[in-house]
Amino acid sequence: MELDTPARPALTYGTYPLLAAVTTAVVWAAVTHRLAISRDAALGLLTIATIVVAFTVERINPLLDRWRMTRDSFVGRDLPFIGLAFVVEQVATMGVSLVAARFVPDGGFGPLADLPLPAQAVVVLLALDLLWYAYHRAAHTVPRLWRAHGVHHAPSQLYVLMHPVFHPIDLLVSRFVISLLVFRFSGATPDAAFVALAVLNLQQTISHVNSDLRTGPLNYLLIGAETHRWHHGAGERVNYGSVLALWDIAFRTFVYEPIRVPDRLGLDDPDSYPDPRRFHATLAWPLRPTATAVPTPVE
Ligand SMILES: [Zn+2]
Ligand SMILES: [Zn+2]
Repeated sequence: MELDTPARPALTYGTYPLLAAVTTAVVWAAVTHRLAISRDAALGLLTIATIVVAFTVERINPLLDRWRMTRDSFVGRDLPFIGLAFVVEQVATMGVSLVAARFVPDGGFGPLADLPLPAQAVVVLLALDLLWYAYHRAAHTVPRLWRAHGVHHAPSQLYVLMHPVFHPIDLLVSRFVISLLVFRFSGATPDAAFVALAVLNLQQTISHVNSDLRTGPLNYLLIGAETHRWHHGAGERVNYGSVLALWDIAFRTFVYEPIRVPDRLGLDDPDSYPDPRRFHATLAWPLRPTATAVPTPVE
C-alpha cells in the first residue's frame, strides 16, 4: 500500500536526524573524554534515550494502527523475550570478555588498530554486517535455523519494543560469536567497537518503529525503518542487513520503496510456526524432532 503525505512532517523528517545528532554528540564526547562516563554507560544511555524517543514518536504518530503494540502483544508475548534478551546479552558480553582475555590483548592490536578511528569503525561495521548477513540468510533457508529465527518474524506488527523478540540462538550468534570475532579478534580498539555499537544500536532500534520516518537517499547506506519493514513483510526475502545496506545491494536482496509499505507483516504461513505467546514451546521449537507437529495456538 502507498502512504499519504506525512501528517506530521516535523516528526517524519526530523526524528532520525535528531537521534543521529544526539548519538554523534554523545559518541564524540565519550571518545574525546569530555563526558565523564564509561563507554558502556554511554551506550546504555543512548539505547534508553533512542527507545524513549522512538516509542513516543510511534505513539504520537503511528504509521499503521494494525501494527500498533497492544497490551496483549506486549505483556502476553514480548515481555518474556525482552527479559530473556537482556539476560542472554549480559551472559554473551561476559563470555566475549572472558574468551578475549584468554586469547587477545586488551586495547586493540595489529594493522586494524593502526587505522584512524572512523576507518576502524567502518571496517568493523562492514565485517559485522557481512557475518550477520550470511547467518541471517542461512536462518531463512536452513529449516533448523529458521525454527529459531522465525520467532522474530511471527509478530504481524512492527513497533520499537518488539525488536528484542529473538530466539537466544540468534542472540548468541550476534552478541557472542560475531561480536567476539569483529570487536575483539579483529584487533579493533575499544573506541572503534564503541562507535560501531552506537551506530548499530541506533539503526536496529529505529528499524522497528511503527512511524512514518523518512531518510531519503540515506536508505542506500543504512538499514532503517523504511527498509527493515520490508524484511518483515509476509512473502518477502529482502533486506537481511542489520545496519548497512551494502551487502543487500551487493547480493541483490535490497529493496527500498519510498512511500510504500508491505500489505501484510509476519510469517508467510502463520500456522507453520508456534504462537510466540507460548514462550517455552517457542524456545524449544528448534530443538524438537523435525517431524514434530506445530504446538497448537493459545486460545
Ligand atoms: Zn529475518
Ligand atoms: Zn526485525
